[in-house]
Amino acid sequence: MWIEHFLQLYLQRECAMSMQNYMRVAARTSADRRYQSGTDIVIVGNGIAGLTAAVEARRFAPDVRIAIITEQSHPTINTPSLKQFAMGKLDREQLLAYPIGTECAQRIQVIHGRVEEINAHDKGVRLSSGSIISYGSLLIATGSVASGLPAHLPGRDFDGVLTLHRLQDYMNLRRRLNEVDDAVIIGGGAHAIETVMSLLYLGVRTHWLLRKKTCLSGVLDQHASELVLRHIQQAGAKVYTETEVMGIAGNVGAVAGVVTNHHQMIPCQLVAVCTGMRPVTTLAQRCTLPMMYERDQGIFVNNHLRTNVPGIYAAGDVAALNNPQTGVHQTRAQWYSAVVQGASAAAAMTGQTTAMTGQAASGASGQGQALPVHFFGVPWHATRLGNLSFVTVGSPLARIPGSVTLTDSFKGTYRRLVIHDDRLVGDISLGQAQADGLAIKRLIDEGASIGAAKEALLKGTFDARKYFSQQRSISVMALARQRNVWTGQPHPGDDEGAPALPSALPERDSLSFDERIQHRVARPVSIVGSMPYAPLPGSASGTQFRGFHYPGGKEKV
Ligand SMILES: Cc1cc2nc3c(=O)[nH]c(=O)nc-3n(C[C@H](O)[C@H](O)[C@H](O)COP(=O)(O)OP(=O)(O)OC[C@H]3O[C@@H](n4cnc5c(N)ncnc54)[C@H](O)[C@@H]3O)c2cc1C
Repeated sequence: MWIEHFLQLYLQRECAMSMQNYMRVAARTSADRRYQSGTDIVIVGNGIAGLTAAVEARRFAPDVRIAIITEQSHPTINTPSLKQFAMGKLDREQLLAYPIGTECAQRIQVIHGRVEEINAHDKGVRLSSGSIISYGSLLIATGSVASGLPAHLPGRDFDGVLTLHRLQDYMNLRRRLNEVDDAVIIGGGAHAIETVMSLLYLGVRTHWLLRKKTCLSGVLDQHASELVLRHIQQAGAKVYTETEVMGIAGNVGAVAGVVTNHHQMIPCQLVAVCTGMRPVTTLAQRCTLPMMYERDQGIFVNNHLRTNVPGIYAAGDVAALNNPQTGVHQTRAQWYSAVVQGASAAAAMTGQTTAMTGQAASGASGQGQALPVHFFGVPWHATRLGNLSFVTVGSPLARIPGSVTLTDSFKGTYRRLVIHDDRLVGDISLGQAQADGLAIKRLIDEGASIGAAKEALLKGTFDARKYFSQQRSISVMALARQRNVWTGQPHPGDDEGAPALPSALPERDSLSFDERIQHRVARPVSIVGSMPYAPLPGSASGTQFRGFHYPGGKEKV
């Protein structure tokens, strides 16, 4: 009896471990030989993809042995919140993605260490300590690293030059902010913009350096980019376009300024490097069976998150999913995507034929819904750029012969739709109100005719619920007409026709990006999918109503 009581107290203490002693406990558990003899599911990396996969796998399979091996010295954190942490709006403890002790409560073994290689023949991984851990299924969730500054850039090692990516980088930033009057931010993407806005919020004079003439050049057209740049300038940042850093000047080991290609010296006490990230594909290189990957594109997986090597999966920033519009595999380095991929990988590794929807998996609804294993469809991204909400879905910059590009701008809002054969190919929405990115994504994924919704999409008044319920009624009526009778019961075979899973092999052809899209768009079956409708958090109905009336742009390609 007393042993049971003692054990209970011990487990409670373990489960309540704080961030500080996480390392100590993780190190001790690494010596646990039980798990070294073989674990059913081994996950490399305790970012959000890895931990979500572990928690979901436990839910699907209560009895399997699950271990996470990670070189990270702290529990899983909510990385998008690091900016709020830097601004002092959140404390370190508030960064935790899951409550403290989740791993213990869910019987997930955490092993602190670095995985060096995979022996796919014997199904085992080797740690830098020399330990071998065998697996039934292996999930590579090794995430991404910051691209940083070029290795040869003079002055890159001065104190005060920070590449912002990990918790340690943001702790470092937060510690030194009191001494910073001027900061230089390098990079042209969303990460750089968010950093600029955070520093402005803190009252730091902010100099933003972009290599190109535009920002977010992979996803925004010139008009949208100008809108964002204007917005950032109005917020108080000094923006330097077409500007490269030639070197960093120092003063007794600390940064004193940045020298640009225009022979300009910008004095500063902080250089924040936000030059993008790349997937950590090392384990694909160090696998005894050839694994399909590309260094900057990630490890190729199918919609079950399977790599081409039996028993090995990949999820999160490291995984390259097929873009159904182009046939090209690419990473989707966003939080939401990592959560959904982690949950889907768990379903696949535990042999589930159904998985939670993305919304349920992220805990937004708390209710599961049985659906075919996730169809990821086209990429999408939603974020805030200062006070601007920004959503991009599909291929909004594609120039496909026969397609029409509609644009609309009014009072600081901008929308761009690319339409081919009455079907949406891509969308950019910028404005104060958040567009319903997932509903727009669903339109593209399902290859829906948007004839009736075009105007509303362009004006930002698209009512997703109304539209999809109308579409359902239309299909039900069509089905009833086809069968000449409607019984109210599903007909055998109604579930057939699920999208074929793309192979893990990349399509390599000589077509250009736009040609590939055209090729795909011409075959509607390739973009039909079953992406569940899940509104963005904070957009309960997924709809905004506005009554603008203004001239729009129309461009026929
Ligand atoms: C600063 C920052 C801000 C962001 N802001 C946003 C945002 O606003 N919105 C948004 O949608 N997304 C944002 N993202 C992206 C989002 O956070 C990521 O897409 C997501 O966290 C990726 O999770 P992951 O689990 O795939 O990888 P990671 O979080 O990178 O985790 C990978 C883990 O694997 C471990 N690892 C790697 N190699 C090994 C090895 N060989 N052995 C053992 N362990 C290993 C690493 O130590 C790490 O713990 C941001 C990212 C960053 C860095």
